[in-house]
Amino acid sequence: MTDRIALIDKLNEQKTLSHEEWVSLFEGFTDSDRAYAAAIAKELREKKFGNKIFIRGIVEFSNYCKNDCFYCGICRSNKNAERYRLTEDDILECCAEGYDSGFRTFVLQSGEDPAYPPQRMAELVREIKLRYPDCAVTLSIGELERAEYQLLRDAGADRYLLRHETAVRAHYEKLHPSFMSFEHRMGCLRTLKELGFQTGTGMMIGSPFQTAHELAEDMIFLKEFQPHMVGTGPFLPHRDTIFRDQPKGSYELTLFVLALVRIMLPNVLLPATTALGTINPRGREQGVLHGANVIMPNLSPTSVRKKYQLYDNKICTEDSSEQCKGCIAARMKSVGCEVEVSRGDYSE
Ligand code: SAH
Repeated sequence: MTDRIALIDKLNEQKTLSHEEWVSLFEGFTDSDRAYAAAIAKELREKKFGNKIFIRGIVEFSNYCKNDCFYCGICRSNKNAERYRLTEDDILECCAEGYDSGFRTFVLQSGEDPAYPPQRMAELVREIKLRYPDCAVTLSIGELERAEYQLLRDAGADRYLLRHETAVRAHYEKLHPSFMSFEHRMGCLRTLKELGFQTGTGMMIGSPFQTAHELAEDMIFLKEFQPHMVGTGPFLPHRDTIFRDQPKGSYELTLFVLALVRIMLPNVLLPATTALGTINPRGREQGVLHGANVIMPNLSPTSVRKKYQLYDNKICTEDSSEQCKGCIAARMKSVGCEVEVSRGDYSE
């Protein structure tokens, strides 16, 4: 038995590893290590969720952003990005279509768009919850202040996605301009949890300058923070960012990390992300085989989908939400799973 297999067993038994152990697990892992972790992760997923995969309909409602994350295609410095912003009516239309296709969670995601301040978002959330009381609303609109998050929570928002991006401050500072703050982002995450949001966080795999050391810290942070959801996918370069020539993240490492997250946090909601489906045509299916239990098809109008380009060659920019749902159902069936129509809340 290799040391890495022993470490995977240890993680499964004790749900924690030391920094050094994480590093040695990530450095030089093989396909058979990954397959070993995947088998455990898949079993844990099945024990908790059976063969059901939750779906969330995502509406990418604006690509305006006041931030300038170096990796992101909709950062404010990208003058080539064609900006768009959906109206409340547009968004409600997406929800209506999504509801008819069986979605019971709506995820509203955007850049940090000053034209959609928290008050405006709160009204929108209230309207969605009024029209669809049986649905969960997830927000993914970036960093705000406590009172603003409180306003959104009071309006009925159930969940919030805010990836920490990296748990190492020096690394964070290499991925973001100096006006963005690691402490603030981490503070937001703690606030979100305190306010009772089901809180999602996560990191890109293979972001520029990331090594096994940073990934080890990410895993330790996830263990300590105990998020309800973990979003993680490969870094993929975007042609109009300063990271355009940086190599993309590793597909195999992303799958390995998914499996390790499932082993460490057996109850967590773990999406097989669009970035994973972009780096490999069977990425999302493989994600599920490595412990993922959530898929987030796009509900945005097809007319704007291509404009929400965080990275190059993003998939699923053509199909309608009904087609997306059908495509996902078929993909899940091919790996022995079924799409589950329910809110799919976190449970212990
Ligand atoms: N503005 C919001 C959400 C939008 S971005 C926020 O700040 O949370 C959603 C996620 O996409 C980011 O958290 C990041 O992890 C990921 N992302 C951005 N650019 C990417 C790229 N080039 N490759 C892969 N993932 C990327």
